[in-house]
Amino acid sequence: MSFLDDYAQITGHDVIEHLRQLAAPFSGAKVVHVNSTRVGGGVAEILTKMIPLMQELGINASWEVITGESQFFECTKGMHNTLQGNQIHLSDKLLEVYERTNAENAESLRASLTEADFVFIHDPQPAALLQHFPNRKGKWIWRCHIDASHPYRPVWKYLRQFIAPYDASIFSLAAFARELPHPIYLIPPSIDPLSDKNIELKPDAVRQVYEKYKLDSERPLILQVSRFDRFKDPIGVIEAYKLAKKYLPSLQLVMAGGEATDDPEGSVVLSEVQEAARGDSDIHILLLPSDAHLEINALQRAADIVLQKSVREGFGLTVTEAMWKGKPVIGGDVGGIRLQVINHHTGFLASTPEGAALRIRYLLYQPEKIGEMGEKARVFVRDNFLITRHLREYLALMVALLYESQDRIELSGSSLNQ
Ligand code: UDP
Repeated sequence: MSFLDDYAQITGHDVIEHLRQLAAPFSGAKVVHVNSTRVGGGVAEILTKMIPLMQELGINASWEVITGESQFFECTKGMHNTLQGNQIHLSDKLLEVYERTNAENAESLRASLTEADFVFIHDPQPAALLQHFPNRKGKWIWRCHIDASHPYRPVWKYLRQFIAPYDASIFSLAAFARELPHPIYLIPPSIDPLSDKNIELKPDAVRQVYEKYKLDSERPLILQVSRFDRFKDPIGVIEAYKLAKKYLPSLQLVMAGGEATDDPEGSVVLSEVQEAARGDSDIHILLLPSDAHLEINALQRAADIVLQKSVREGFGLTVTEAMWKGKPVIGGDVGGIRLQVINHHTGFLASTPEGAALRIRYLLYQPEKIGEMGEKARVFVRDNFLITRHLREYLALMVALLYESQDRIELSGSSLNQ
């Protein structure tokens, strides 16, 4: 029995059978995903499970990570921030480091990428690889995970020259898509219900995190899990907590985070957060190692309400993870959070600390609402945001690119070798 069958317990057998049919033409096909970090952040989280699932379907899938020095990540963090709307000038020197680092990585990945049938390039960091493969064999797809709806023009114009020659782009939602001279696909991300981050836990595991982090299981607990990044508005979370605490003195807040290895700003934001939390022993700032998946799972289950008060958000896997555990989420009214948090149904959208505090109070005063909204949230994720749906859409995209010049899509038999 394949581990794909384990998913059938959650999604139903039809979903898995459909995946097998869609993957049949790609048996043995070489599919390479490229990003810039193996741990930390949503992209790494998805690839960790997407690769083995593709392999299980008979695809020769692999995952490459580009490497670079601190200036490269300084530049790509700047690109990330400017694509999300910040107006920051990236110096010619930094852009030179960006291009040089991509050129160097192109050499180390040459064998793998030249032969690939499909290459998925994730986000801006490795976007400039393509120009070094003039004789590429396969289809190259740029997968943008970030909210690029209002980019700082000069930086988008610069990046666009590298992205335009791709065969297709994927954005997480329609609002994020940019105009590009190739097909654009809209594919929201997903979570893996069987990963350590999301799997059902025994009550003991949840009890253990209460003990380990000195949390009181008798008192209400709110949680935000996020890298320490200004777009996640950690200071706004503390403000919302403080406002709600005036009415709910027993309230506890956990802010669990760690640092993605490609994010040089993390430690600065962390010290700002520590400063804002100083003097309140009910605020627990947890710095977790990047493999603390079971612990984050337990914390999400321990929380009464989960916050994701981002002011920009590509998608927000932490939202999906919490909803899958039957928790209502109070999320920022931005990006992919809007796709998941259906206001007043699966959670609440809040733009200000005051708004978030109001919703915290509303839910904690009416615990039955927590259960009702949490159940709606779980079903919504099951139907829309599990990895099986994500994989199906990647496969459908591959089929479409493979047969782009034909008007009929044939799902069985291999055409890669024709
Ligand atoms: N995450 C984690 N440890 C942390 C912070 C986050 O494992 O300290 C995980 C989190 O559970 C989620 C992912 O990293 O799976 C973050 O994805 P999201 O889309 O929410 O945000 P991103 O970091 O990609 O902006």
